[in-house]
Amino acid sequence: MNAELICVGTELLLGSIVNTNAAYLAEKCAGLGLSCYYQTVVGDNEERLAQVLKTAMERSDVVILSGGLGPTEDDLTKETAAKVCGRQMYLHEPSKKAIEDFFAGRGMEPTNNNWKQAMAPEGALILENHNGTAPGIIMEEEAAKLILLPGPPNEICPMFEESVIPYLSALTSQVICSQTVKICGVGESSAETMVKDLIDGQTNPTIATYAKTGEVHIRVTANAGDRKTAGKLIKPMVKELKARFGNHIYSTEEDTTLEKSVVDLLLANKLTVTCAESCTGGLLSGRLVNVPGISEVYKAGVITYSNKAKRRLLGVKKGTLHKYGAVSEKTAEEMAKGAALLHKADVAAAVTGIAGPDGGTEEKPVGLVYIACYVKGKVTVKQYQFSGNRGKVRESAVSAALALMRSCILEYYSKVTFGKKE
Ligand code: ATP
Ligand code: MG
Repeated sequence: MNAELICVGTELLLGSIVNTNAAYLAEKCAGLGLSCYYQTVVGDNEERLAQVLKTAMERSDVVILSGGLGPTEDDLTKETAAKVCGRQMYLHEPSKKAIEDFFAGRGMEPTNNNWKQAMAPEGALILENHNGTAPGIIMEEEAAKLILLPGPPNEICPMFEESVIPYLSALTSQVICSQTVKICGVGESSAETMVKDLIDGQTNPTIATYAKTGEVHIRVTANAGDRKTAGKLIKPMVKELKARFGNHIYSTEEDTTLEKSVVDLLLANKLTVTCAESCTGGLLSGRLVNVPGISEVYKAGVITYSNKAKRRLLGVKKGTLHKYGAVSEKTAEEMAKGAALLHKADVAAAVTGIAGPDGGTEEKPVGLVYIACYVKGKVTVKQYQFSGNRGKVRESAVSAALALMRSCILEYYSKVTFGKKE
């Protein structure tokens, strides 16, 4: 079976918002074993949407639409799709009740135009929306199945997980399961080389590598008649990847991020943490604070951008800055030690580097970053050379700092060694 995506919204066409729904839906369809050959973005215009929809129905088995299910005049996806399919609209009482409850739960009154969202095309399947007022709609036409979903990502994603995946899985009668092996501290090309033979020989399960900033994800996907059989196909491949990447794998769980794996280690070992940041300007603390439960271990952090701040707040020596410069191994080390002392933390990460676009020299080019990690008195400092623009260099530095924190804590506690593959 093949699927096709239509994202509706003039904002998307104008570039005011990024089409994250398309990426999300495409990835989910691939995971379900549906081939996606086309994606279209169309504005909030009845005639053009009808045209796009007719074309899609002619060539695809499943057509998934996102956006334009809202209460306002310009939201016309449902009305247009119903017209194309020759279906009348009627008031769907359970949706009306859900809208009343949604507003009552927030101590608000629905406005008149909200009732538009309770109207449904005759004979359609209705998908509940637990995060908004627009229900999803499925119309099973002879030519294709149409699936209409709301635009806001916080509504479309849970609805897809809860209702659309079970619906599509039942259609395909095959289940597609996947597991992602998440790796840090190994570059993309080394990781690819390390699994080249597996990729070349793949059938079922298949494996694919995805480069993320400072990380590589390897997705193992199997299809089978049921979940259990698919799981059995995935398991030996994941085992093989574990044997190859060892401690560089920080998780095989869908929801675990690199920062979460670091926070889990801090919590498990009851270690308090702090960060001293120069070129990353708080991004590292921000990534850590993304993780719920961090308050147990994170007390404070500092942004020391100027030399004066590095000296005054962290006690970096004047002589160090003078002799080696702010972007140096020695400064990074003193920043980490100073931060640990200042906040009485067990673990301290420090970042100093040249994010660019200016400020680079032949000796110290843009992208040069030193990261230090202090764990209970032991400091490790590493030098990195990142590429890309200012934003990319800063993001790469944050990911590298998280990976270094992880490896230093692991080394401290279990004498695991990292190194060769870095
Ligand atoms: P609403 O009830 O909010 O009007 P809707 O289902 O009508 O929802 P739209 O009006 O198309 O959806 O979009 C509402 C908001 O959802 C947009 O302003 C945008 O923030 C987000 N959104 C819509 N489509 C996309 C998309 N393809 N990718 C990412 N975000 C999107
Ligand atoms: Mg809308």
